[in-house]
Amino acid sequence: LPPRHMGRSYPKEAYSIGTGQNQQGTGQQAYAPPNPMATTPTQQMPANPQLYNPQTFGIQSQQAQGSGVVPPTNNPATPVSFASPTTVATAPALDPMPETDITANFKKPTHQTGSAPPPFNPAVVNSGPRHSPPPAVDQPNGNDQQPTTNTANNPPQQQLRGKRILQPEPKNPALASRSPTLSEYGGHMPHPIASPAVSRNVNSAVASPAPKPEWESDPAYVSTTLKSWPASTDVLDKTGLPFCITFHPLAETGKEVPVINFGDANIIRCKRCRTYVNPYVAFIDGGKRWKCNICYFLNDVPREYFSIVGIEGFRYDHAERPELNNSVVEFVASPEFMHRPPQPPVYFFVIDVSYSAVASGMVQAVCNSILQAIEQKLSKNERTKIGFVTFDSTIHFYNLRSGLNSPQMLVVPEVETPFTPNPEDLLVNLQDSMPLVKKLLTSLLPELFNQTQETTSALGPALHAAYKVMASQGGKLTVFQTVLPSVGAGKLPNRQNTNSDATQRTLLQPGEQYYKNLSLELSKCQIGCDLFFFAPSYVDVATIGCLSKFTGGEINTYTLDQHNVNEASRLQNDLYRTLTRNNGFEALMRVRCSKGLCIDSHHGSFFLRAQDLMTLPNVDSDKSFTLKLKINDPKNYMTAKNLGRDGRYYATVQAGLLYTTSNGERRIRVITKCCPITDQTSDLYRDVDEKACSASIGKLAVHKAIEEGLPKAVAALKSSCSNILSKYARFSGSGQSGGQTLMLPNTMLHFPLYTLATIKNAMFRSDTPIDRRVTLMRRFETLSDTEATLWIHPNLYNLAALGDGVGEMKEPFVMPATLELTSERLDQRGIFLLDDGLAFILWVGSAVDPSMLQAVFGIQSLAEVDANNSQLQIFRRENEYSQRVNNIVDRLRSGRTGYTWMYPMKEKDPTERKFFSKLIQDRFPDSYSYREFIVEMKNSANQRR
Ligand SMILES: [Zn+2]
Repeated sequence: LPPRHMGRSYPKEAYSIGTGQNQQGTGQQAYAPPNPMATTPTQQMPANPQLYNPQTFGIQSQQAQGSGVVPPTNNPATPVSFASPTTVATAPALDPMPETDITANFKKPTHQTGSAPPPFNPAVVNSGPRHSPPPAVDQPNGNDQQPTTNTANNPPQQQLRGKRILQPEPKNPALASRSPTLSEYGGHMPHPIASPAVSRNVNSAVASPAPKPEWESDPAYVSTTLKSWPASTDVLDKTGLPFCITFHPLAETGKEVPVINFGDANIIRCKRCRTYVNPYVAFIDGGKRWKCNICYFLNDVPREYFSIVGIEGFRYDHAERPELNNSVVEFVASPEFMHRPPQPPVYFFVIDVSYSAVASGMVQAVCNSILQAIEQKLSKNERTKIGFVTFDSTIHFYNLRSGLNSPQMLVVPEVETPFTPNPEDLLVNLQDSMPLVKKLLTSLLPELFNQTQETTSALGPALHAAYKVMASQGGKLTVFQTVLPSVGAGKLPNRQNTNSDATQRTLLQPGEQYYKNLSLELSKCQIGCDLFFFAPSYVDVATIGCLSKFTGGEINTYTLDQHNVNEASRLQNDLYRTLTRNNGFEALMRVRCSKGLCIDSHHGSFFLRAQDLMTLPNVDSDKSFTLKLKINDPKNYMTAKNLGRDGRYYATVQAGLLYTTSNGERRIRVITKCCPITDQTSDLYRDVDEKACSASIGKLAVHKAIEEGLPKAVAALKSSCSNILSKYARFSGSGQSGGQTLMLPNTMLHFPLYTLATIKNAMFRSDTPIDRRVTLMRRFETLSDTEATLWIHPNLYNLAALGDGVGEMKEPFVMPATLELTSERLDQRGIFLLDDGLAFILWVGSAVDPSMLQAVFGIQSLAEVDANNSQLQIFRRENEYSQRVNNIVDRLRSGRTGYTWMYPMKEKDPTERKFFSKLIQDRFPDSYSYREFIVEMKNSANQRR
């Protein structure tokens, strides 16, 4: 389907929800100050003007009258809620958990048609009457939005507001008499419960240590949807919350993971279940034995590892043992972990050189990128091996044996039974053969096929040849492909033409088994496969993508043509990243769960060899693995054996990733997550991580889409949201009040928003081309919880209105405030940066101050900008404003695993749709607005009660 142009038909929504302390009303006059002189019901005005939406009160503010688009005012001190990982330094945590119960103070407002409910202010709902008196004219609180704040870049006299014509609010009968929503009622937390520990008898001689926060160095390595784990399936079912854990074993956190070398001695592991020693094991019998925290077996402590245990239950040498102080450590593997010497880093490239590959500029771009990665990184390692195969209707091998004057090319036409030359000549040491490799990439490959007219593709046979060459060593296979394979084994029919499956279930699943079978062969030989597609038309990513799905690889797609400079640069960046990031070879990841727990389902790129064992020929710092957990043995789940010293029960999940580093060291990265068990629903609500929940539910939905089709996946997303809402209503007792309210704990205020964002993501939208959908789904499955949430619900900033101190090079660094994802927040004088973690979209309004254009882009007016928007690049320029803007962009990029590519566009640009499709609070032509979604969720939740 051709993409529908989104146009400017975004209705304004006088509605907002839970963006925490930075909450703004979203009405037309959202930024208008509360007007104490107004005659309408000022008595009901809330204490915090940030949360004040005059429109819903029927107040016409003088300043805001007639403004359709209101410039967001920036307040550097305003904390942001949707903080990306890199903004953590300046962004406080989400709403602090109220310590008191608000149910006692909670009065049900009496709403009538058309009257507006009070907005949500967490500070108010917990401590005073719901309807607070209006604020004084001067706001003593520095965090409050100063209504009259207009920076020099945002002069008040400018009369550009409202240029963006917005359609009047839709006449949706469901909204005419709307009920108050959760943001307006505020979050709600149950009574804190008394610790159940009091009544339990703890045998301190054998009890495990209670986890200490300092043992968990960085949440980047592992996250869970629940920080307390349910005591039973029953307790979990009462909440409807997902119970998942996500490991990101090679996360780049900027911190060193402690490396432990036991030398010739074996690593301390449980004799029965092979769990690695970790901070949560108990040393007992004066230090002679240790109790495994996974299977509770009592192990003898080897003499050389012995240390006396002190009165508090810790060994005397506790402080000097990193493995007992860190939940994430890396052991140097002892010989027992090696079946063969660690493999060298092997890189093998399979490159399409058919007509479309050459004409699109792909071959040239790929050669440049590979050369760059080789020169800057790969050639620094003396063990690196490299090789190339190209293909069209035939297969071309390149002999790169050192000593040759020039690479020798061998063309094999017999694609049905390909003959493979001697692997030793094809897979060579990079340093030894560097001149040949350079020659191949700079002159031979780019020129050799310049005149080609070949349009057919023997991808299958070429991959098989690569597999033969690499089989004895393993390594990383990188494939570049532009057309549907049409020759030899693995040729694929165009399923899109012949398939009328409306649910796309068939198209999302692999067709031919050739690539899946091949991927299992690759996996056995420790070959991981990354795929780069450059297809304007259908190439069946679902089928070919098996190669990466089952080998720990990834899929990237590009729409290259000779005019699209952006895509070529993006390819160059991505490929460079793929080849130079922290790559692990011949990897295995085993996940052990303590008694009573097991893994229900696995999500990510791997081949599952056993329920607890994932084989990963390649693993890298950009890959996460999500596991859904299940209580399968309630009898053994909570026993005296896993009672901690503090009287709480604990359960543990430990991931051990065995891999070979690029330097040829065999390592085991061990990540241990130990959480308290609770039988209280209130604890689950208190300890829920809404981002992890949204990401996990999204991954489960991806799985459902592939198994059962898109409509069922979208229905499942909605259903899980309304299920959670209705269960919370039942829990909190608000269900008895006639279904007028929609309650959530403060810990989950954004959850419905994230759910809507997931539904509106290109993965699940109906107009996404199938190949792109598969690519996005596969990528999503491998994102960490933080990355996944940011991708689903991006951060939006206005770079043209930076408040004082924002973006200045000082600590703590102050990020601009994040804006709600609605066109209501846009301003034609603004320069908006939308950051989804994988890419930036820069949207430049048509009425940006020329001095701003000059400062940031070095241009006088937008008229100078060409069709490619090449002038709208953010470079560091010699002025203070440019420095601040660049500081912000650099700060966002710095915490990322990959390089965040930027797509600039000016207002009314044809590519503008890309930007607007991310403003998920707006109504889309085929999907509802946030407010409509809330109404539907409320109705649906009511029906469940
Ligand atoms: Zn054990």
